[in-house]
Amino acid sequence: MDLGLQDKVIIVTGGAKGIGEAISRIIAQEGGIAVIAGRNAADNEKTANAIIADGGKALAVQAELGKVEDCKKVIDATVAAYGKIDGLVNNAGANDGVGLESGSPERFMQSLQNNLSHYYNLAHYALPYLKTTKGNIVNIGSKVATTGQGNTSGYAASKGAINALTREWAVELLPYSIRVNTVIPAEVWTPLYETWINSLPNPKEKLAAITSKIPFETRMTTSEEIANTTVFLLSGRSSHTTGQILYVDGGYTHLDRSIS
Ligand code: NAP
Repeated sequence: MDLGLQDKVIIVTGGAKGIGEAISRIIAQEGGIAVIAGRNAADNEKTANAIIADGGKALAVQAELGKVEDCKKVIDATVAAYGKIDGLVNNAGANDGVGLESGSPERFMQSLQNNLSHYYNLAHYALPYLKTTKGNIVNIGSKVATTGQGNTSGYAASKGAINALTREWAVELLPYSIRVNTVIPAEVWTPLYETWINSLPNPKEKLAAITSKIPFETRMTTSEEIANTTVFLLSGRSSHTTGQILYVDGGYTHLDRSIS
């Protein structure tokens, strides 16, 4: 299936590592241009250079996305380089463990800044350009918004808000033919996941316990599986899909986990 992404300019926040890296690579494999925006310049360059070495197109933009001015910088740099924006993938985020007991009002607000505000800020600054191209937005959420996890109020609140904003933006942007969808991962092996599992007392046992409860093939989802659905949603092949929250999680969130 030709996804029709040739020379489409698509911003991927956190596009240097993990799920974001897989999305950037698949955009480029489909002929699109991946604009990789993230806090670590060396990571961004490494992934962009790897894509270019494979014959694809990519641009690296350093941005600490918790800062409003850096969100604007990402949009300005993209337009300066290519003159248009065809898609925005809001992906950057981290489960930062700001709980009710363990956290504080200040850390809670900081977590919203790091996990939620930039989803709005980038969509806000990209909107004039998305209106021109009838581009679209894909957000990466988390099953935590539905299931809870404990000890992560800021991250859970951010991901819950992202689900709400998906519906809200899909409605607001109907007049412009801009589609907005969200992809929900549950358990995906990425640098972030590795750091998180290793922060627990018995990481190996915990990983085995989690994996054994993933209904479909009792295995983790791959970053590429998240990326394939994301890139399909970015493409015109999903031209009548908007306001949807898609769980790419091997049934983890909704199927009966006692079966495995
Ligand atoms: P990852 O491996 O840590 O990659 C995320 C990338 O985004 C990193 O390069 C990170 O930079 C960057 N980043 C994060 N927050 C940023 C910020 N505020 N400003 C600039 N750069 C930022 O994470 P991942 O596991 O691929 O997760 C990607 C998305 O999937 C997140 O929204 C996460 O909530 C969601 N998700 C993941 C899983 C999973 O199982 N992995 C499950 C549910 C949801 P640094 O490395 O320098 O921090």
